[in-house]
Amino acid sequence: MQLFAKRLDVKEEDIFSELLHFLLRKNNRMLTNDEIIELTGVSPELLYKWVKIGKLHPATFPNIGAPCERCGQLTKEKICISCSSSIVGILEQEEKDRIWFNKIQRPDRRIHTYYHK
Ligand SMILES: [Zn+2]
Repeated sequence: MQLFAKRLDVKEEDIFSELLHFLLRKNNRMLTNDEIIELTGVSPELLYKWVKIGKLHPATFPNIGAPCERCGQLTKEKICISCSSSIVGILEQEEKDRIWFNKIQRPDRRIHTYYHK
């Protein structure tokens, strides 16, 4: 069954409502991205877009994902778990570096407080 393959004149909203209708049928909620693309002919770009803007919610369709914005691996979030943990690590390191940098850049203020005493 190819719902959309040969129908380029159809509006995005119409494709979405048709796709949603299809997905909400019994047993279709558990379909994966690849299965949906194969069964309906919907383009992966549209599917990912709808996942990202929350039109296709992972709570309703647990096996649908969109590519991670960093590495491209399919995920239910904007970025996948491994990227988000590595980004947190990078940010923590940056914060440490920033503190260290400020420390070595800033003139020692104790000298001033010494004079004001
Ligand atoms: Zn990733």
